[in-house]
Amino acid sequence: MIGPMTEFTPTARSRVKRHHERGAYDFDAIASILDAAFLCHVGYVIDGQPYVTPTSYWREDDRLYWHGSAASRMLRTVATSVPVCLTVTHLDRLVIARSGFHHSINYRSVMAFGEAATIADPDEKLAALEAFVNRLYPGRWPELRPVTKQELKGTTVVGMTIAEASAKVRVGPPVDDEPDYALPLWAGTVAIRQVVGEDTTDPRMIPGIARPAGLAPWRAGEAVDALLTRLAT
Ligand SMILES: Cc1cc2nc3c(=O)[nH]c(=O)nc-3n(C[C@H](O)[C@H](O)[C@H](O)COP(=O)(O)OP(=O)(O)OC[C@H]3O[C@@H](n4cnc5c(N)ncnc54)[C@H](O)[C@@H]3O)c2cc1C
Repeated sequence: MIGPMTEFTPTARSRVKRHHERGAYDFDAIASILDAAFLCHVGYVIDGQPYVTPTSYWREDDRLYWHGSAASRMLRTVATSVPVCLTVTHLDRLVIARSGFHHSINYRSVMAFGEAATIADPDEKLAALEAFVNRLYPGRWPELRPVTKQELKGTTVVGMTIAEASAKVRVGPPVDDEPDYALPLWAGTVAIRQVVGEDTTDPRMIPGIARPAGLAPWRAGEAVDALLTRLAT
């Protein structure tokens, strides 16, 4: 396990070259971006063809986990020790400049590299699935109808130790060409936030059932990245 305060050593694969000043490799910076999300893109190659599959994930220390149907081609492929690149992106602000060229985006992103492996042991797999549910809905797992053997068999969980990773973060106002600052044009940034909206209840739910405690963090108006960060700590 890579403990807190350690750094990934950037290699030719993971060193940020374009705008290198926006790159970071320390574990805390990378973990904070990972913990503020639960959607990622998993990139891998089958027979020379690249695929990038969006899916949900969770982190424990220096390991990333994701899951799905045992029939998923993505999960069958990444479980055979193929190289994987998993990315996570937060879109924070649109950056509005005085020329089209200098428009930009403020973002936080991570690219994590490693080799994924299936979690074969049923107890370990169940524990991983419990961790995923409780990561999003604290305390929800024990309330749920227990997982059946068939459901467990039909679900693949893969884990990947992060071998190396980079973060890249842009913050701040637009950076325009010096003469353009004299132009009478609006310039600045526009915040983009993903927030929790209003619930719907399942029309087939038995009437009168209260919203469970595990959903308490998911309050309308909460910023999703801040909420997920709180849930991760
Ligand atoms: C929301 C968003 C919008 C973007 N829009 C644009 C755009 O319109 N045009 C554009 O050119 N770029 C954009 N980028 C930046 C883009 O992700 C790349 O960083 C950039 O294109 C340089 O790519 P490269 O392959 O030359 O990077 P290189 O610096 O050559 O990549 C080398 C290594 O650096 C690391 N790295 C590179 N980019 C990232 C990253 N974003 N996050 C974490 N690690 C990274 C990886 O480990 C990678 O293997 C955007 C990024 C985000 C998150």
